[in-house]
Amino acid sequence: MIRRGLAVLLMIVLLCVPVSAREVTLYSVGGREKTVSSDEAGSWRQKGWFDRDEVYTDIYSGDGQEREVLNIELSLWEERGWREDPEQLRTVLYSWDGTSEKVWNDFVQERMDNGWVRTPEEVQTALCDGSGNWETVWNAEVEGRLADGWYRTEEEAKVRLYDGDGNSKTVWKAESEALLAQGWSLTPPAPAETAPANVPSDGRPMVALTFDDGPGPYTDRILDCLEKNGAKATFFVVGNRLGTYAAQLRREAELGMEIGCHSWAHSSFTSLGASGTAADIKRTNDRVEELTGVRPMIVRPPYGSHNASVREAAGAPFILWNIDTLDWKTKNADSTFNAVLDKVKDGDIVLMHDIHSPTADAVERIVPALVKRGFSLVTVSELAAARGGMSAGKAYSSFR
Ligand SMILES: [Zn+2]
Repeated sequence: MIRRGLAVLLMIVLLCVPVSAREVTLYSVGGREKTVSSDEAGSWRQKGWFDRDEVYTDIYSGDGQEREVLNIELSLWEERGWREDPEQLRTVLYSWDGTSEKVWNDFVQERMDNGWVRTPEEVQTALCDGSGNWETVWNAEVEGRLADGWYRTEEEAKVRLYDGDGNSKTVWKAESEALLAQGWSLTPPAPAETAPANVPSDGRPMVALTFDDGPGPYTDRILDCLEKNGAKATFFVVGNRLGTYAAQLRREAELGMEIGCHSWAHSSFTSLGASGTAADIKRTNDRVEELTGVRPMIVRPPYGSHNASVREAAGAPFILWNIDTLDWKTKNADSTFNAVLDKVKDGDIVLMHDIHSPTADAVERIVPALVKRGFSLVTVSELAAARGGMSAGKAYSSFR
């Protein structure tokens, strides 16, 4: 028993010997290495040798690379843009759906070219409900909210009501139902003998049908119908589709339809920012002009998303709409037809999309029905001209 205990003790001693005589690697400030026993390390340190982490520092570059450099070379690396603190080289960016990400600075421009922005406010939009409550939402939610009865402006969230005695008042849409039940009406009483000043000289009410996101495979059907009925419309085209559908684009121009800009790739202008928007619109308009010889004069912002700085950068009027058919959502010709025919009034701008087959079905009924009701179907610019014109940098949703 004692003998076995001695044997164990001997093994422990043997194991400890290399530990006590451990080797240590030390470094000079210039990065030379020296391996010494731990017993001698103290005296080498006094002679100006150091542990590795006293001589080297980890640094980062703007594209996320990491490297270890000698402290004496640190300032040289800093001059080249490398930093000890990676946080100095990263920027928080936001996308239109509210996600945020820390991005290495070298990749910030690339992200911003793809719609990321530096502050959340740039990818948020304030919306108003039918009772006047405002809420700020991510741009990705805007279309859904608009479909649920939210509005971009207080004006759109209100409605003008008329009674039989010549009185009228503007109320929140949420309040209008009760008033309608009390006999107020959405339509003014029959006009007096003199026509209102805004009716065009031939006396017919005017409406501007507009088609976004094309050209596409159903554009020709819509053009056939417009041509057959002597009607005009406006096509807000997307630049990256023009190569595939150049024939449809040229036909739009040849038939006297108006061609407007709907961005190069359907990016939100508020996400692109002012200079990004200006470049995007120029690229799209250059392409339209190259293919048709006509340069678009008006802009429809994707998602209806705009603010004063992008409007100013665009240098053109922004054309919104006051009748949203939601054709892209319902994909139902009856619903699109009713959305127009139930509401349409003189000066309205109707939003549709010529990339859906049910929309073409609806147009084949809407156009003759409007003509039959006495409407003159005109382009946006024709409508604006009849109502006192429009200005660059301003947004219009109807021309009453
Ligand atoms: Zn669009």
